[in-house]
Amino acid sequence: MGNKLVEALSAVTTSSKEVVYDILVLKFTVVTACLIGEPNSKNFVLVDTGLENSADYIIESVEKRYGKDSKPKAIILTHGHFDHVGSVIKLSQIWNIPVYIHNLEIPYITGKKDYPLANPKVDNGLIAKMSPTFPHTSIDISSHAKVLPDDFSVPFLPDWKWIHTPGHTDGHISLYREKDGVIIAGDAISTTKQESLLSVVMQSEKISGPPKYLTTNFNKAENSIKHIRNLKPKLLIPSHGKPLDGEELTKHLDYLVNNFN
Ligand SMILES: [Zn+2]
Ligand SMILES: [Zn+2]
Repeated sequence: MGNKLVEALSAVTTSSKEVVYDILVLKFTVVTACLIGEPNSKNFVLVDTGLENSADYIIESVEKRYGKDSKPKAIILTHGHFDHVGSVIKLSQIWNIPVYIHNLEIPYITGKKDYPLANPKVDNGLIAKMSPTFPHTSIDISSHAKVLPDDFSVPFLPDWKWIHTPGHTDGHISLYREKDGVIIAGDAISTTKQESLLSVVMQSEKISGPPKYLTTNFNKAENSIKHIRNLKPKLLIPSHGKPLDGEELTKHLDYLVNNFN
């Protein structure tokens, strides 16, 4: 079972890193999640929820950073793939908080629609090969699911806007904070070649578009990358791979726009 291997891998090397004073990136080896909000503040949110076995580490990290028994105001999901919603059932129940997602992703977290099976033929890498064994059926958190506001505001985060970055999935979103140019890109852009297990484990820094085996619309994915590039972000935090900043980020984004095939 591919996803069991991915989970086992993740469990042994979980870690976290503060990349900006109010953003903690939680790393589950194959995927990241973020806590946004200053340490010890009461106002913070969780972006994405890692894999199915990530909940304990997320709760531990929350209590360490924000105090015992604290909980985020909300969970925001970039999209509904299994490596982003892995712990959302457990966490939304334990914390009893709303889970925001784009309108077009709602069917996948309310038990109405399944994602298509991953396409292993897009790449020769091991993760691409085992990708058909990844969970693709929808979860059901109807009692907590909420649609993101129409005006692109992000609940509880007044400095942030959500931007629609479809292609990887129809309702994929990224989160952008203009004042310091931080973008949480989800799977719109990866900085590791996610299709190959070796490069995931080594976290070798190759910028790549979205993980190919799960991406449904490559034209839209390309436009989303252009959209992100045009914002001229200063720091990009992807769900897969390491954050990139400064000139390196600009160069990588230009490269991606010019070489998207
Ligand atoms: Zn995805
Ligand atoms: Zn992903």
